[in-house]
Amino acid sequence: MYTQPLYRPPSEARSLIIQITEGCSHNKCRFCYMYKCKDFRLKSKEEITEHIEWLKTYYKDPERIFLADGNVLCLKTEKLLNILKKIKDEFPTAKRISSYSGPKDIVRKSEEELKTIREAGLELLYMGVESGSNKVLSMMNKGVNQQEMIEAGQKAVKSGFKLSCMIISGLGGVELMEEHAIESAKVISAINPHYFSLLRLVVEKGTELEEDLKQGKFHLLTPLQVLDENIIMLENMELTNCIFRANHVSNHVNQAGTLNQDKDKLVTKLKKLRDSDDFTPNTFDVL
Ligand code: SF4
Repeated sequence: MYTQPLYRPPSEARSLIIQITEGCSHNKCRFCYMYKCKDFRLKSKEEITEHIEWLKTYYKDPERIFLADGNVLCLKTEKLLNILKKIKDEFPTAKRISSYSGPKDIVRKSEEELKTIREAGLELLYMGVESGSNKVLSMMNKGVNQQEMIEAGQKAVKSGFKLSCMIISGLGGVELMEEHAIESAKVISAINPHYFSLLRLVVEKGTELEEDLKQGKFHLLTPLQVLDENIIMLENMELTNCIFRANHVSNHVNQAGTLNQDKDKLVTKLKKLRDSDDFTPNTFDVL
């Protein structure tokens, strides 16, 4: 009853996953392998109903529900509201419903529509900002520019959603390292999401970025350059009560705190590591 592969954010590890759409409607980012093997598809109302009722036979009282795949908000508002009602009726114990969200899907909806969706039960949105730099966003074929990213994030927050934004460390390569750090800090600061996660770029097999790397068109940061980039990014962040995590398996150094309250402490720790002789990064590289 699921079309594989299925993805969810690390923080949704214990959530019941309900697959509402399949794939990603964009599916063109050069670094992304997630939905390369499946075509984007909107499931019919009947398929979704059948899926929910099948899940109900296995999962009686989930506390958290994650709606898959890549961008559930691309659904027409009325259809999404009906699905949320069905989910609430079938799983009344669910305290939180979340999903990935595409910036363009958020921008396309009116604030009124977004508020209605929020009130119907969708509470937390995960938005892959990836980079705040127009140069990097364009190089990676993200299909969204800096201004659209800020507009989407601000609109989601204003409409009452909890918002979790993600940046990929190293996505500008060596050439755009500083620009990526500064512009990403600018975008995250302008949005001021509830959560901000920093992952590190791991080049996956079968992506266009793997080809760029092989052809010498893209240059990965060294672990020390990743530290430098993280320092510049954090130094330029201006946030209020934003929960920050860099504790993904890809990260060289685990970090956690609240921004800006913990900014100085985090930067000091990174600088100390960078300048020490015994910096041994966690390494997880596919290539
Ligand atoms: S990064 Fe997100 S928007 Fe880009 S192809 Fe992957 S799932 Fe789609």
